[in-house]
Amino acid sequence: MNEKCLFCKIINGDIPSAKVYEDEYVYAFRDINPQAPVHILVVPKAHIGSAAEVNAENSVYVAKCYEAIAKIAAAEGLDNGYRVINNCGEDGGQSVMHLHFHLIGGMKLSEKII
Ligand code: 5GP
Ligand code: ZN
Repeated sequence: MNEKCLFCKIINGDIPSAKVYEDEYVYAFRDINPQAPVHILVVPKAHIGSAAEVNAENSVYVAKCYEAIAKIAAAEGLDNGYRVINNCGEDGGQSVMHLHFHLIGGMKLSEKII
């Protein structure tokens, strides 16, 4: 828990969120500013600042996030596919410095960078 971190406060219940999934490693909730019919933020319960801070000690949280993404996507009915986005650092457009994966779907997504 990082006292100054927005997502740590959400995980801790200090700030309300629309929770969709939770387990020992992962907390997932709906984005406050959704970019698609389904837009869920999947975050590790440990404070990891960004993808740049993933290492051998904490990478289990990343694996658990992806396990959760598969479960949530199925529960949300995203049978035809979806997109997972991780913005990293300033150039990557990350605005909340707690590692998170955007799970986006429920429509045909067109914009592609790669
Ligand atoms: P980033 O730009 O860091 O990749 O994504 C941060 C995301 O967090 C944005 O999509 C933004 O809408 C979302 N967000 C920011 N503050 C809150 C909040 O207080 N509650 C929720 N549910 N989402 C938030
Ligand atoms: Zn945090």
